[in-house]
Amino acid sequence: MKASAFSYARATSVVNALELLAEHGERAKVLSGGQSLMPAMNLRLISPELIVDIGDLTELRGIAVTGDRLRIGALTRHVDLLNSPEIATHVPLLSEAVTHVAHPAIRNRGTIGGSLAHADPAAELPACMVVLNATIIVRGPAGERRISAEDFFTGIYETALAVDELLVAVEVPVAQKHSAHFFCEFARRHGDYGIVGLAAQAVVQGDVLTDLRLAYFAVSDRPVLAGAATKLINVAVTPTVLVQASAALGAELDPQEDQQASVSMRRHLAKVLLARCVAALLGRPELANAGEAP
Ligand SMILES: Cc1cc2nc3c(=O)[nH]c(=O)nc-3n(C[C@H](O)[C@H](O)[C@H](O)COP(=O)(O)OP(=O)(O)OC[C@H]3O[C@@H](n4cnc5c(N)ncnc54)[C@H](O)[C@@H]3O)c2cc1C
Repeated sequence: MKASAFSYARATSVVNALELLAEHGERAKVLSGGQSLMPAMNLRLISPELIVDIGDLTELRGIAVTGDRLRIGALTRHVDLLNSPEIATHVPLLSEAVTHVAHPAIRNRGTIGGSLAHADPAAELPACMVVLNATIIVRGPAGERRISAEDFFTGIYETALAVDELLVAVEVPVAQKHSAHFFCEFARRHGDYGIVGLAAQAVVQGDVLTDLRLAYFAVSDRPVLAGAATKLINVAVTPTVLVQASAALGAELDPQEDQQASVSMRRHLAKVLLARCVAALLGRPELANAGEAP
């Protein structure tokens, strides 16, 4: 199938893009890498009347470290994240997660801004932003807004972005001393959207997790920052503690059934990931199979 007829405008500046969005409202769509927008248009899931191509706006590209924050421009492509020494050094979770986003051809064009604005609940990068406590920076007619990643994702393909706003950048705190991360997803093939996935970051002091953030994806209508993490902080983690954390996790997830997995399978896989995550972070392989009560 082909997309419905549409008009095309190549924005010459952020201000110009914002003017076009303000003028056309719901009838316009931003084009970044096109890796989600064009398939959706070709399948006629959406039929915008105007495409605002922001691909030439070089001010929206790039990665820069300032103090204890790392800023990534919205048009930074997945391949640039993958190849960035700044990301590898300061946000290694992201370097690892990006290898799971689609395939090289898509990573060569797809952008971080597009991935976050698209807000697929099974996507990797939204969960990474939540676990990293990132700030999403958007610009609209009234100026700039800074939105915490936890508040940005509001439902399936829904975000706090207004139709006349542009996602311009994200800011991520750089990894602290003693910081460790974990990323794993179950997918039918490497590069497919995950059936269930977990991005985690922790501070590990000796045998104890003194901080732990767990963000699941593909288990709800948006990334889930799991409260079960609190059960694992500042305690000696035993199999019993892990079973308790696992039970708390089961109570807070709201997975959906689809062609890939049932609700119970998703719950089970989420618990498997929790145990593997804690085992990996603490360097205690014996915990990897201790997540569920016998
Ligand atoms: C075969 C295939 C497999 C895929 N597998 C995965 C996967 O495993 N994981 C994954 O996460 N994704 C996957 N994707 C989706 C795709 O990789 C990402 O969603 C994509 O990278 C989005 O970025 P983009 O720049 O291409 O966005 P676009 O397609 O250009 O835009 C996506 C949406 O975001 C809006 N938008 C884009 N940029 C902005 C902005 N700066 N401000 C406001 N709104 C904006 C657009 O209007 C549109 O609604 C896959 C896609 C394909 C075709």
